[in-house]
Amino acid sequence: MIGITVLGATGSIGVSTLDVISRHRDRFKAVALTANSDVDTLFMQCQLHRPEFAVMAQPEAARDLEQRLANDGLPTKVLSGRSALEEVAQLPQCDTVMAAIVGAAGLNPTLAAARAGKRILLANKEALVMSGKLFMDTVHQYNAELLPIDSEHNAIFQCMPQNIDGSLEDRGIRRILLTASGGPFLNMPLNKMANVTPEQAIAHPNWSMGRKISVDSATMMNKGLEVIEAHWLFNAAEEQIDVVIHPQSVVHSMVEYVDGSLLAQLGQPDMRTPIAYALSWPDRMPSGVERLDLFKLGSLEFLAPDMARFPCLKLAFEALKAGGTAPAILNAANEIAVRSFLDNKLKFNEIYQLIHSSLEVIEAGPADSLEAIFDADSKARRHAEHFIGQRPMRQAVQ
Ligand code: NAD
Ligand code: MG
Repeated sequence: MIGITVLGATGSIGVSTLDVISRHRDRFKAVALTANSDVDTLFMQCQLHRPEFAVMAQPEAARDLEQRLANDGLPTKVLSGRSALEEVAQLPQCDTVMAAIVGAAGLNPTLAAARAGKRILLANKEALVMSGKLFMDTVHQYNAELLPIDSEHNAIFQCMPQNIDGSLEDRGIRRILLTASGGPFLNMPLNKMANVTPEQAIAHPNWSMGRKISVDSATMMNKGLEVIEAHWLFNAAEEQIDVVIHPQSVVHSMVEYVDGSLLAQLGQPDMRTPIAYALSWPDRMPSGVERLDLFKLGSLEFLAPDMARFPCLKLAFEALKAGGTAPAILNAANEIAVRSFLDNKLKFNEIYQLIHSSLEVIEAGPADSLEAIFDADSKARRHAEHFIGQRPMRQAVQ
């Protein structure tokens, strides 16, 4: 039996992970499930999966969950707080950790899993974007295994010789092509984009995902974060990573070889495919995903990204080039910008302005310690809050 800890069990990736696991109860067992504050969902998941531990990051939520489990006679032990997230990522009975917390909050527990030498299924791209080299060094130092869950990186992994280390040149690879749907605003007139609402932004045309990544897809910051993620995962230089708009989200990414071959992975836009692949790697197992019917699809399109429409993508390339703590600054500013946009405190086009300003104002330094990375993260968050406070009065963004 493979023991699994799911960090962020109640989110979109967490729910898909538990769906895949429930199809293979003879092979996988949930050891620990964690969430921030969603007691209802975690309680239901505890009833279904009977993990040894459940963690709520928020202490009041933990008390509530504990009560409900006790009333139901369930033996799951409830822990709370951030240190408990790290604890359950390191349990000896846990072999695999699904890192599916959203944002910087996932960095410490994911690093804890790496230090315990676990197999890490990485959905939480922000953790890797923030800490890049330090993250990869920790994985290598403690002999942890890192398998990408992000559909693009999982696709690239599937199209590569089965070894994630080494240079692309050594493996005969010329470049990596990350596909992007273009999100809900791919064809919207530019002058209308400033005033789009959170509801419009989170209505992704192909994927059903958490709110933050849905907004990131609409600005294409998601693709920017993925460029940085690909840089670290595959040891790819910035010039070796191209972004291709592919509105159908069927080709999940591609690898171009020096002989002219272009390998692609295709599938339904359903995260259970990459999750099942990473869970069973190097084997394959059913995921519950519907088969892809090429005849129904008809045709596929590929377009160059428009940096004027999606300036956040350009910022991410710039942060990658700047290096050091610049990606941590980019990520933290983006987290505040997206939250403020969702709370109607920032307009859609101001997401870019805020991140741009953060990268201009805050000086990036070496990202050689966790302290340096979290220091850059806090400075960017403070600057972002200040930026929002200083804007011309707009109590209610319509
Ligand atoms: P989500 O918002 O649906 O779920 C987030 C999970 O993290 C929830 O379980 C929540 O309780 C937990 N969480 C949030 N803040 C926390 C905190 N401060 N402390 C502890 N736990 C906290 O997000 P999602 O869409 O599932 O995305 C999760 C991660 O996977 C993100 O990094 C995202 O970029 C990445 N990802 C998601 C998809 C997708 O299809 N949803 C695809 C690729 C990558
Ligand atoms: Mg992705």
